[in-house]
Amino acid sequence: MEQAVPQTFDRVLSSMCTRPHPAAREAAERFLATNPGDPETYRTVADLESRVVETLGTMTGLDQPHGYVASGGTEANIQAMRAARNRSSAADPNAVVPSSVHFSFQKAAEVLDVDLRVAPVGPDRRADLDAMASLVDEETALVVGVAGTTEYGRVDPIPALAELAADASAFLHVDAAWGGFALPFTDHDWHFGHAAVDTMTIDPHKLGQAAVPAGGFLARDAATMDALAVETPYLESTSQATLTGTRSGAGVASAAAAFDALWPDGYREAYERMQANAEWVAEALADRGFDVVDPVLPLVAVDLPEPLFDAVQEREWRLARTERGELRLVCMPHVTREMLSAFLRDLDACRARI
Ligand SMILES: *Cc1c(COP(=O)(O)O)cnc(C)c1O
Repeated sequence: MEQAVPQTFDRVLSSMCTRPHPAAREAAERFLATNPGDPETYRTVADLESRVVETLGTMTGLDQPHGYVASGGTEANIQAMRAARNRSSAADPNAVVPSSVHFSFQKAAEVLDVDLRVAPVGPDRRADLDAMASLVDEETALVVGVAGTTEYGRVDPIPALAELAADASAFLHVDAAWGGFALPFTDHDWHFGHAAVDTMTIDPHKLGQAAVPAGGFLARDAATMDALAVETPYLESTSQATLTGTRSGAGVASAAAAFDALWPDGYREAYERMQANAEWVAEALADRGFDVVDPVLPLVAVDLPEPLFDAVQEREWRLARTERGELRLVCMPHVTREMLSAFLRDLDACRARI
């Protein structure tokens, strides 16, 4: 049998992951056979994990960060809800989220038996404060804001949501799984330094250019990690706050290598290039008469007629849709101006034929 080769990123406009930085790929391969789930035995990778958390703290305005490298944003979001639930005294705890949250919150609520209360977003596609407030009560353990929504790249009003959470003695979690490596170079208020944020999801394996699996879970207080920890009788280390047990050191080492190579200048340059590409393609699509959702972060949504979407997809472009059916172009680091030009040429050719 011929050895299988993974596909390239050359026609991928749908993914929130990207080609890892070369140093990040190399580190992932080097640390494949390590297990940061047992940090006393695997000390080198455990040290790398501490460094990763330190740097994530620097990026997010947190002086003494707590947290770890998770399997992804899904695990980090589950852990945020778990910590909030474990620290809440509510008999029947609920979490209040905007309808723009990632579907991982459905999984979290189901696994943890937390009542998920979903508030409609406003016309600007961001969390609506009144709608969120109307769902908060004394049983609310968690309020969630998104910094870079999966569908439209919107940033919720985090400081106002933090006040709402504090008034209810609930936790505020910020999901910056995708946006977290672009937002440091914008003037949005989104992190621990801007508001009373308790926990955050920020994934190196998305805009951080690290290899999968490398998600990020951050907490302001040690007590949050304590609320997650269980005793581990048969490991060298004595307690574990992660959701997974044995886990890959590849993602940890990969994130550390990506940070060494890219934080902060490389990430700034990547963000500026991605954002310029997103604005360029948004304008090109608007010039063709399509309805375009302007890119706040490097993500463009555009309303294409169904037959046109299907025709372009048949030309081997990997494309994703929003729930409303718009085309979602995620302008990740591997998405070049040349790729976008080629995509537009195909779009024009398909349109001429239809
Ligand atoms: C991608 C994403 C997630 C889920 O992360 P995974 O790494 O796929 O588990 C969560 N939240 C947001 C905002 C995301 O974009």
